[in-house]
Amino acid sequence: MEAIDLTAFDLFKNVPLELINEIMSEHSVYTIPAGQHLVKRDFKNSALYLLLEGEVEIYLDEKDKPLKIISAGDIIGEISMLDQQSATASAISLCECRIIIINEELIWELVEKSHLFTINLLHIITNRFRGVNSQVISSIQKQRLFEHKAIVDDLTKLYNRGWLNENFPLLLERCKKDMYPFSYFMIDIDHFKKINDTYGHQVGDFVLQLTGEILNNLSRAMDYVVRYGGEEMAMLLPNTNVEDALGIAERVRHTIEKKVIIYEPGKTLSITVSIGVSTLTRFETSADLIKSADEALYYAKVHGRNQIKFNDGKL
Ligand code: GH3
Ligand code: MG
Ligand code: MG
Repeated sequence: MEAIDLTAFDLFKNVPLELINEIMSEHSVYTIPAGQHLVKRDFKNSALYLLLEGEVEIYLDEKDKPLKIISAGDIIGEISMLDQQSATASAISLCECRIIIINEELIWELVEKSHLFTINLLHIITNRFRGVNSQVISSIQKQRLFEHKAIVDDLTKLYNRGWLNENFPLLLERCKKDMYPFSYFMIDIDHFKKINDTYGHQVGDFVLQLTGEILNNLSRAMDYVVRYGGEEMAMLLPNTNVEDALGIAERVRHTIEKKVIIYEPGKTLSITVSIGVSTLTRFETSADLIKSADEALYYAKVHGRNQIKFNDGKL
């Protein structure tokens, strides 16, 4: 059995090693392919999953966007396992993942044996509810924001600059007040002028629409995608720290680079984007985050394009 440091999981924080070793002796590591359900909505779930490697998407409705993406070090299935009811969300592996499965009986054994394990479990569940509350708030906010007209860009159907000017400060204020993180992307298509010059303005427009679609598909329920202007788009990521933001930025960069754009039957082209990332440290305004991401974007451009740069203040 390979050595896996389970104390890195919040669930096992401060739990005696002997007890953890007992679990490891009974539980093996599984590798699952992309697209596999760990938990399926409306079905019972009787295990808890420790995600060692990879990413898992959580869906309230599999036809919609994922509610969020769980990364290595987190656990899945705790609520549906504990309340013995059918799951209210689905969890699906986004890529090949390595997991440990702990069944219900063993969880109860751990609860009995370790006071600290129980506290950790309670902490995790409390945090989940906090997360759910903030999702609900952000979806109500979104609904309200949509009630205003003239907030959507005609071509891409993304939020427009007017929307950004009005709402970025408000969304940022909320995160500051709750001491939540907040990250921001400035995304610019590389050598876009060449697309217009080579294929014509209409193809340019089509590429902009498609890029907007890709960004929307990759955004999570709490994110906002904005057409900042021309071929520049922005993404607002509330409750997202810089590590997670950089993972999302890389997914955006990679997906766009790999996309085969069919601009006429039998004719294809591809594009790349450069992304500048900024994050809330404590006191920044929305203008500060835009400026900081813009500087990072400029840096990505001069360093060869098709890359992500984070402005940590040392650029
Ligand atoms: P860089 O890699 O440095 O970003 O180079 P670039 O060519 O992408 O940047 P530049 O700012 O030189 O050119 C942007 C072009 O985007 C110029 C402008 O005509 C075009 N553009 C802006 N808005 C639209 C639009 O709505 N539709 C189309 N088709 N083109 C647009
Ligand atoms: Mg450009
Ligand atoms: Mg530009």
